[in-house]
Amino acid sequence: MKNPLSRRRFLRTMLTTAGCALPGVTVARAATLRLAKVIVHYQDHPKGHDMCGMCRFFLPAVGHSNGMMMQGLKPTGTMAMGHCVKVAGRISPMGYCVLFTPRLDK
Ligand code: SF4
Repeated sequence: MKNPLSRRRFLRTMLTTAGCALPGVTVARAATLRLAKVIVHYQDHPKGHDMCGMCRFFLPAVGHSNGMMMQGLKPTGTMAMGHCVKVAGRISPMGYCVLFTPRLDK
C-alpha cells in the first residue's frame, strides 16, 4: 500500500537538502528551483550570531574572491547582497532563514 505522506516528505527532503536531485532536472534548471524566502522564513537580519554570511549555502556577491579579481571582475564590499544555493532572490549576508547551516571553515 502506497503512503502519499512518505512521498511528500521524500520530495521535500530532496528539495531542501539535495537542491534538486530529481530525475530529469538539469543543473541549469536546478538553479531556478530555489525556495521562496517566505517558505524558509527568511529575515534580513541575523538570529543571534547566525547569519547568511556564515552559512554554507551563501554565495557572496561577484568579486568577493581573489579568483574573481584575477578575472577582472570588480570587487564588492563584504556587506554586498549575494545569493543562496537554497533560497531564491538576493540574500543579505546579515540575513537568516531556517535552513541556516554553519560553514565548516568557520
Ligand atoms: S540557507 Fe538560509 S541562512 Fe543559509 S545563506 Fe541561504 S538564506 Fe541564508
